Amino acid sequence: MVTITLKPGKEQSLLRFHPWIFSGAIAKMTGEPEEGEVVEVHDALGSFLALGHYQIGSIMVRVLSFVPTKINQKFYSDRIGEAYYLRRQIGLAESEHTTAFRLIHGEGDYLPGLVIDVYNGVAVVQMHSVGMYRDREYIYKALAEVMGDSLKAIYNKSEGTLPFKAGVEAQNTYVYGQRPDDIVALENGLKFLPDWEHGQKTGFFVDQRENRALIERYSKGRNVLNMFCYTGGFSIYAMRGGAAKVHSVDSSERAIELTRNNVELNFPGDPRHDATAEDAFKFMERTEGEFDLMILDPPAFAKHYNVLNKALQGYRRLNTKALEMIKPGGILFTFSCSQVVSKEVFRTMVFSSAAKAGRRVSVLHQLSQPADHPVNIYHPEGEYLKGLVLQVW
Ligand code: SAH
Repeated sequence: MVTITLKPGKEQSLLRFHPWIFSGAIAKMTGEPEEGEVVEVHDALGSFLALGHYQIGSIMVRVLSFVPTKINQKFYSDRIGEAYYLRRQIGLAESEHTTAFRLIHGEGDYLPGLVIDVYNGVAVVQMHSVGMYRDREYIYKALAEVMGDSLKAIYNKSEGTLPFKAGVEAQNTYVYGQRPDDIVALENGLKFLPDWEHGQKTGFFVDQRENRALIERYSKGRNVLNMFCYTGGFSIYAMRGGAAKVHSVDSSERAIELTRNNVELNFPGDPRHDATAEDAFKFMERTEGEFDLMILDPPAFAKHYNVLNKALQGYRRLNTKALEMIKPGGILFTFSCSQVVSKEVFRTMVFSSAAKAGRRVSVLHQLSQPADHPVNIYHPEGEYLKGLVLQVW
């Protein structure tokens, strides 16, 4: 195994269990590892620090273990087993009401570079590092062991998530079982048709589950606008909560089709729902203040720090417009899923949008991601979803 030695002083972040090693921290290597190989990391004096997947780029090692161990079948079976145990404890795995959940959330489950979402027994696997891709057979076997009979199929969806320069030709395909006939997944008893083969990311955003349940509590009699609706999750909860009317908006025609299908599955022929495929900004420009419950769940406007300022302008414009148009006494759910927008920066952005709109605004809830998206305490970057629930007069 190749050993990587760090420059003096560069061991500090590893001693605090941060799971990434940047290229600038490396002094020397005993050989030329292939991308994805497991390497051992030592401090400048030769003491063992960690084991991890080697990768080419600014993050050169993603740590798998801070104690010497073998990265083999047992390693993956143990880690995936621990993750499954957590999901069972919190009432997700093997639940009768919720069959869509995240089983592996990268660093949060001590498996950096790996995401696995489960939809009614279908595990959709996304590998973001070549190391995870090389270890894929261990991962599939661990899933079969841990999930037992509840595993219907494994779909590897890593074609678009692996670093393109690595030259790994991953194909999106079933690697175990096949597409089941019944693909309906439940979330708090509501039905959804996740589209992992063609949809965004793994096909459905399970991270908003608890925030959607909160919407249900605020919906009675309200006129709801669900901006950036994607598969219509928030809309369907609002309908169950007794909303008077629900309007779903997304710029993607396909998303509107998915939303319509999901609404029809839960509330066939219900006249309260309407949907429009249009750009959010354009829709809000031409709409008067008829809504008293609004949801803003835009895509990550910023994926890197170098575009943060531009992204913040976008978020500010969006939030200002929503705060201007919402009816007095209205409730706004506003989110950001950009990892580079911290909780503090997000709150400051909403604060300045409120001041610009000139409305009286109170914070009712501060929202985050659910426990099946755990945040590794040594890797605060993993806390990506932020939301505020505001009352606006
Ligand atoms: N709220 C959703 C997830 C939103 S994902 C849920 O609960 O599952 C972000 C969505 O924003 C995507 O569906 C994307 O098509 C849409 N989108 C991106 N840019 C947009 C724009 N300018 N106007 C409207 N929708 C947009």
